[in-house]
Amino acid sequence: MTTPKSPGQTQGKRDFRNRSRRGARPYTEQSHTAHSEPQRSAGLANAQPGIVLKSGREKSLLRRHPWIFSGAIDRVDGAPDSGSTLPVYDAAGNFLVWAAYNPDSQISARVWSWREDERINAEFFRRRIDNALAARSGLNLAHSSNGMRLIHAESDGLPGLIVDRYGDMLVMQIGSAGPERWRDTIANILQVSCNPVCIYERSDSDSRALEGLPQRNGVLRGTLPDKIEVLEYGMRFNVDVAAGQKTGFYLDQRDNRALTETMARDKEVLNCFCYTGGFSLYALRGGAKSVLSIDASGDALDIAAKNLTCNDLDLTRAEWQEADVFQALRTLRDQGRKFDLIILDPPKFAPTAAFAEKAARGYKDINLLGFKLLRPGGLLCTYSCSGGISEDLFQKIIAGAALDAGVDAQIVHYLHASADHPVLLSFPEGAYLKGLVLRVAG
Ligand code: SAH
Repeated sequence: MTTPKSPGQTQGKRDFRNRSRRGARPYTEQSHTAHSEPQRSAGLANAQPGIVLKSGREKSLLRRHPWIFSGAIDRVDGAPDSGSTLPVYDAAGNFLVWAAYNPDSQISARVWSWREDERINAEFFRRRIDNALAARSGLNLAHSSNGMRLIHAESDGLPGLIVDRYGDMLVMQIGSAGPERWRDTIANILQVSCNPVCIYERSDSDSRALEGLPQRNGVLRGTLPDKIEVLEYGMRFNVDVAAGQKTGFYLDQRDNRALTETMARDKEVLNCFCYTGGFSLYALRGGAKSVLSIDASGDALDIAAKNLTCNDLDLTRAEWQEADVFQALRTLRDQGRKFDLIILDPPKFAPTAAFAEKAARGYKDINLLGFKLLRPGGLLCTYSCSGGISEDLFQKIIAGAALDAGVDAQIVHYLHASADHPVLLSFPEGAYLKGLVLRVAG
């Protein structure tokens, strides 16, 4: 077995010596699976902490993909704990990257840096955060909204870290062990760089269980304002950062919502999975004849009703339904209802490629029904936010749905998340949101 060449620093030990350990690792089936990988050799307990990959398994890192799966690891030396920064070596002992280690996840390490001389410390985080903030200012996004994704995880060089801005407050969401370890440092930097009235932590996504991390939801810095509102293209949206979905609002759909406004004039609109009314409000402002909006969440619909009123939109043209969309679409079909513009923006059906087949059935079902409910010449705006469904596959699913619905349709727009959700070229998984606007033949 090869011993790594000059391991240099063991940042796990050096930088964290005086830091308290947060979040005991609960035993999970996932962690059991990860630990009991049969092919992994026992690490050298007394060696400098580090990860040694199996022969040939460095390829994705050389292409600068930031994940190291448990199956690629030959051995882990030392006794590093979750969140430690470790050097990663190829089988010949050459340095590859500095990465945050997580023994409890199938993604055993996520890359912080490809530079051997880079130190993963507060300065490192300051540089990466400044860079992410500069990217947003450089794109001049603030003219469209005061709600913005400031840090988009892997795509901003900060795996597992999401920071969203809503007016003068920030919501931070940690999804992996690396940023979990640096949580206070990151909050301190954000406080200085952005000067928010509050930093709220929404580290309570389901995916944290897969990382062996506990759920956390609460104020991290400052005081939570009584009312949080974003102003997006002149439209006001109330945001519930404590109990709303994601960090409270779907910032990624900003430009797609605005596009809907331009297509809505005099149309009968159906908005499925409407959440707090995003697409519905734009359609109403764009002059829609009527908008029927459906969501399963009563809480989201309550906020949608508030949003409708605070934007002075015509209440009489809006109808809201608390229902399961799969069922509601069938009911509308059986009633013989027809629409000119339909929006389908469902939740994530496939978090990873492993769920793709089941997810594909879900997408096909709602899109087939959507096509059937459209009048000739009608528009279908259909989205998938599943990381496990590629753009190509999504288009194929929609083509299958149109075929089965017996309609001819053409794609008039290919859509993605807004520019504050960049996609790192070497990390295609970052392109989770894709949308198509289709026009069915007249
Ligand atoms: N288009 C929205 C975001 C949609 S998020 C916007 O622009 O803000 C997906 C929504 O689907 C959530 O509000 C969730 O409550 C809802 N949802 C999930 N499963 C559902 C189902 N089976 N039927 C109806 N709504 C559902």
